Amino acid sequence: MKAPDFAYCCPDNVDDVCELMAEYGSDARVLAGGQSLVPAMNLRLSSAELLIDINRVSALEGIKLTDDGQGVSVGALARHAQVAASPLIRQHVSLVGKAMAYVAHPAVRNRGTTCGSLALADPSAEMPACAVALNASLVLQSKKEGVRRVSAREFFFGLYDTARRDDELLTNVIWPVDQPGYYTGFTELSRRHGDFAIAGVAVRCAINNGIVRDLDMVTFGVGPTPVLSAEARDLAEAQEANAALASSVADKVSNQLEIDSIEHEQVRREQVRALIHRVLLGVFQEAACGNS
Ligand SMILES: Cc1cc2nc3c(=O)[nH]c(=O)nc-3n(C[C@H](O)[C@H](O)[C@H](O)COP(=O)(O)OP(=O)(O)OC[C@H]3O[C@@H](n4cnc5c(N)ncnc54)[C@H](O)[C@@H]3O)c2cc1C
Repeated sequence: MKAPDFAYCCPDNVDDVCELMAEYGSDARVLAGGQSLVPAMNLRLSSAELLIDINRVSALEGIKLTDDGQGVSVGALARHAQVAASPLIRQHVSLVGKAMAYVAHPAVRNRGTTCGSLALADPSAEMPACAVALNASLVLQSKKEGVRRVSAREFFFGLYDTARRDDELLTNVIWPVDQPGYYTGFTELSRRHGDFAIAGVAVRCAINNGIVRDLDMVTFGVGPTPVLSAEARDLAEAQEANAALASSVADKVSNQLEIDSIEHEQVRREQVRALIHRVLLGVFQEAACGNS
């Protein structure tokens, strides 16, 4: 099958992109890596009057430390493979470094972008879950409103539905840098390595002298958006980082999770329980070895 007819343009600066997005609104689509958009158009699951190819906008390239040193900015044209190989990401945003190992296959990673993944908001994708766990900032730009920042915890509304308006370009995402004494963990279950997750868990917490604080734990793949667990935070606060805590958080959170799949609800619950248990044990172990 082929995509329905569309017009195509490739501006070379952000202002021109925003001008076109303002003019066409929901009739236009930004083309970044094209790894999700092009198959969806070819399958006629998505259509557009105009494709705005941003691949010539050099201002959207790159991965860099923010001026205040508190964030790592990943531009809209940074490919998954570049993010995975980035020394800045490895050194300062350990959760994304860990999660990138699970994102797609090499051919897809060479073109697909982090910002494309966040803009698309697939519930089984790794980057939205990391963004919610770390509360990353998404930077949006439009002709009408200029630049605005939305925190990841307020960005994902539902299945493929986000706070981004039709005339807004996601120019970059800012990942907060790891703080001393904080540890991260990521794991997922998928049919084959590199496929989208059936279910997954992303975690960040502080561990000091074996005591857990500030646990941010996100489950994904089981509902329309990544879910930050307030219950996990309450259960773990000021508790000892040990196997008993990993088990009790895994049991309680998985039991209360709203699961999309009615047919496989019990199986999915058990999978999430095992993933939470596994990821927390890994984080606790890392802290015991002193590697943040
Ligand atoms: C075989 C296969 C396996 C995959 N496995 C995984 C996986 O395991 N994990 C995973 O996370 N992903 C996976 N993907 C998806 C891949 O990571 C996509 O590249 C990614 O989700 C979207 O990024 P993109 O740059 O290709 O975006 P595109 O396909 O170009 O765009 C996707 C959507 O986002 C919009 N968009 C893109 N960039 C912007 C922007 N800067 N501002 C506003 N809107 C924008 C587009 O208009 C479109 O609606 C897989 C894809 C394939 C084909």
